[in-house]
Amino acid sequence: MPHPVELIGGATTAVITGSTVVELADHDVGVLSTLTVAFAMLSAGVTLTERVAQAVTTEVYRCSVQTCSVEIRATRNHAPERLAVLREMATDHSRHGTAVL
Ligand SMILES: [Zn+2]
Repeated sequence: MPHPVELIGGATTAVITGSTVVELADHDVGVLSTLTVAFAMLSAGVTLTERVAQAVTTEVYRCSVQTCSVEIRATRNHAPERLAVLREMATDHSRHGTAVL
């Protein structure tokens, strides 16, 4: 099921791209150029939407030890128990402190 951000992002992309295409048609821009612009706008919109959706659906757990750079990213569609395990692994330094890069 798509996240609301994805729906809004997709709709916004479609509306902006559609109005740009209409405007280009008004200015006698060729079909190929119009398609190129439309495709570029769509792919940019999709990429941006994916980034935003990922940011709002991803939990980041960081180690509380200052010198430690361990962090775990998990999407929120995991079961709460699994997220709890991941959070514990990331925030409890003794669980990963022996790891050497
Ligand atoms: Zn740590």
